[in-house]
Amino acid sequence: MTKFVYDFAEGDRDQRDLLGGKGANLAEMTNLGLPVPPGFIITTDACRAYLAGGSEPEGMAAEVTEHLTALEGTMGKRLGQADDPLLVSVRSGAKFSMPGMMETVLNVGLNDDSVHGLAAQAGDDRFAWDSYRRLVQMFGATVLDIDAEHFHDALEAAKSAKGTKNDLDLDAGDLAALVETYKGLVTEHAGRDFPQDPREQLDLAVRAVFDSWNSDRANIYRRQERIPADLGTAVSVVSMVFGNLGMDSGTGVAFTRDPASGAQGVYGDYLQNAQGEDVVAGIRNTLALTELERIDKTSYDELMRIMGVLEAHYRDLCDIEFTIERGKLWMLQTRVGKRTAAAAFTVATQLVDEGLIDLDEALQRVTGHQLAQLMFPRFDPDADKELLTTGMNASPGAAGGKAVFDSETAVAWAKRGEKVVLVRRETNPDDLAGMIAAEGILTSRGGRTSHAAVVARGMGKTAVCGAEELEVDVRNKVFTVGGEGPAAGREVREGEVIAVDGTSGEVYLGEIPVVPSPVMSYFEHGTIDDGDELVVAVDRIMRHADGIRRLRVRANADTGDDAALARRFGAEGIGLCRTEHMFLGERRSLVEDLVLAETRDEREKALAALLPMQIEDFTALYRAMAGQPVTIRLLDPPLHEFLPDLTELSVQVAVARERGELTDEQEALLENVRRLHEQNPMLGLRGVRLGIQVPGLFAMQIRAITRAAAALVDEGVTVLPEIMVPLVGTVQELQAVAAEIAEVVQEPESLVDGAPVEHQVGTMIELPRAALVAAEIAEVAQFFSFGTNDLTQTTWGFSRDDVESSFFSAYLDHGIFGVSPFESLDTVGVGELVEIASWRGREVRHDLKLGICGEHGGDPDSVHFFHRAGLDYVSCSPFRVPVARLEAGRAQA
Ligand code: PEP
Ligand code: MG
Repeated sequence: MTKFVYDFAEGDRDQRDLLGGKGANLAEMTNLGLPVPPGFIITTDACRAYLAGGSEPEGMAAEVTEHLTALEGTMGKRLGQADDPLLVSVRSGAKFSMPGMMETVLNVGLNDDSVHGLAAQAGDDRFAWDSYRRLVQMFGATVLDIDAEHFHDALEAAKSAKGTKNDLDLDAGDLAALVETYKGLVTEHAGRDFPQDPREQLDLAVRAVFDSWNSDRANIYRRQERIPADLGTAVSVVSMVFGNLGMDSGTGVAFTRDPASGAQGVYGDYLQNAQGEDVVAGIRNTLALTELERIDKTSYDELMRIMGVLEAHYRDLCDIEFTIERGKLWMLQTRVGKRTAAAAFTVATQLVDEGLIDLDEALQRVTGHQLAQLMFPRFDPDADKELLTTGMNASPGAAGGKAVFDSETAVAWAKRGEKVVLVRRETNPDDLAGMIAAEGILTSRGGRTSHAAVVARGMGKTAVCGAEELEVDVRNKVFTVGGEGPAAGREVREGEVIAVDGTSGEVYLGEIPVVPSPVMSYFEHGTIDDGDELVVAVDRIMRHADGIRRLRVRANADTGDDAALARRFGAEGIGLCRTEHMFLGERRSLVEDLVLAETRDEREKALAALLPMQIEDFTALYRAMAGQPVTIRLLDPPLHEFLPDLTELSVQVAVARERGELTDEQEALLENVRRLHEQNPMLGLRGVRLGIQVPGLFAMQIRAITRAAAALVDEGVTVLPEIMVPLVGTVQELQAVAAEIAEVVQEPESLVDGAPVEHQVGTMIELPRAALVAAEIAEVAQFFSFGTNDLTQTTWGFSRDDVESSFFSAYLDHGIFGVSPFESLDTVGVGELVEIASWRGREVRHDLKLGICGEHGGDPDSVHFFHRAGLDYVSCSPFRVPVARLEAGRAQA
């Protein structure tokens, strides 16, 4: 029978799938002998069963009882016991951290009786009533779905009745009265009384945590972070310890290193006399962790010792939540900490230098996604800037846009193409959609560990937090700069442009030009400044990735300049030159002439005009990639793309006819455009079909490819052209083009020393049929290049040009897929076709070269798949080349 509940002592950190990250690490810390309050974990299996069936799975309740009884035995008191209650927190915890996205309920076990027991035990009436008030409030809002505003308003009313703005001025009597008010609110809005039975509280809280897996904000966060929708959350039930028992108590968050730079030292925030979420919520400004040494040296020393144990044990930067209850330190959570992209690289190499990990492991500690972030530009240090204020550098990057003060506006304005910066006092999980839509985030409250900072860092979004000088007035959509600085008194209203520098914490007025990042300069020019720890770390990790990876990395490039850039980024050839890009601009009319040619002569003339241009194009590419393979694809898109739009032309013709000004030419043009018009052009006359239909077109391109190559070989340049045929569905198509190639290469201008210039002939595999008949195709093709854009389109039957703006968002919402299959390869469907074609092709031709040139070539997850599938190379846009190199190394390590 499935086991649904685990004691902390029964688990370990490798069980994140089952126990969630929080639960697995609580178990690990317990087994390390660290001071963790006792508790147990309800598994993700239980959550999934609950979400699927709508009720707790059979056996779960009995297991909870068994573990609760054991916990009560350990603690020497029962849950909610009237004279000395055991209280527990009920916390969510999924395999992947989703900070603040799901529910937590604290102080479960308090009721009208046990509140007195707690007061007696703590010797503090106020504390007991405050804890009870928090339970009813949290329970009401999260478990019983009552609008949190009702509780908020009641609290405000109690404070103003007392003539204060500070919670701490409410005494035990005020809080006891507030509990009565809250209970009334529960009865009124939930249609039931606040449950007095502690076990019922526990069961309902567990359900609420399960249900919160499917909350809107959790769904949005998962989509953003590509976390699968079907994992479910575990629930930790932990005996409560209290940070709000007076000034010798408190709660805090700590990092074993600086999560923004990786520097060693003491990083974190501490809040005296506070409970649980107060720190992360960023509601009160916190003290720096170093202050704890002064406040409570014993606990501070113990915390430092534990941080050392954790870092040595996890061999990585850890973040920690802790509580001090009357001078006794308790560990509430640890995990391998979220960090900025820069810190990921520097910490990884620091750990190598400290002998904790080797370079292979360092490579696993960084991601292509992080590398891509480091390549983003930053503000020009020499630009004129009007500094408004400086806050905490919570998440690096340079972001500018119009100030907006709420999530809905951020989403609406971003949707219409405007860049916005979301300005809030503090953010909460409901701001998530706005944070995603915004270029950057600015808050006036909360530290580096506030919700805004943690979430922004996790998604690589620029953020400045805790800019305390700012008075943010969300209601009137304006912020005012306080303090004594030059900008003091300045107001910034919704729609005014501001710029935030998440690396320095600075906030500016107006738009500021950006310059390339040092990491970008390193890739572009190979410059390494020894003093720049980040660039040194990136270089070291990249060299290791390059040294071990099996998968080669090429670029998709159509011009000499792009090819040269790609080469500097480390491309080892061109995997796709889309020749249609060479027919735009002025040359478009030549193609139009070709399409409209009525006689052989007219056609030949158009082709003859195009030939020297194509020779020039290919020469530039070969030169930039000398010594490396260059794959040139014969013309792919439907011909009508080079002709005027049918509707527009019809209107023009109708108008001309009306005016009696219609020419024969215009009429013929309309006729031709109509003839070539297709309902489904992507499934129509394109690719190899076009080459067969329009005589001479492919031959002209083949001629240009081989003549340009032959001429360069004569000059002593090494050229390795690969001629690629698009959209092949049957070997007969490829045979027809191969025959044409065989003829053209015998022409004198394509010969080198009397023999055809060295070249290869291959095909794209971008139709399911091509993948299935790969064995036949491999008889003719020397290489396959998977066109995963079209292969995804044709395998799923999704129009690649339409779906992302139509029903995909609903599909993502319904969890039908976690990420668009056009962005990250659908490995089970489309990926299987890639594998089938690879096996079948290589069975026939052992040295068949295999590559991929769809957008997936630069997607980290897809790169790992292509590595496993045994491909020889991936090809992606020049800017993704470093990312693909890194991920290819990670796939190997
Ligand atoms: C593809 O289909 O994956 C491909 C690379 O070709 P294109 O995107 O040009 O259709
Ligand atoms: Mg294609």
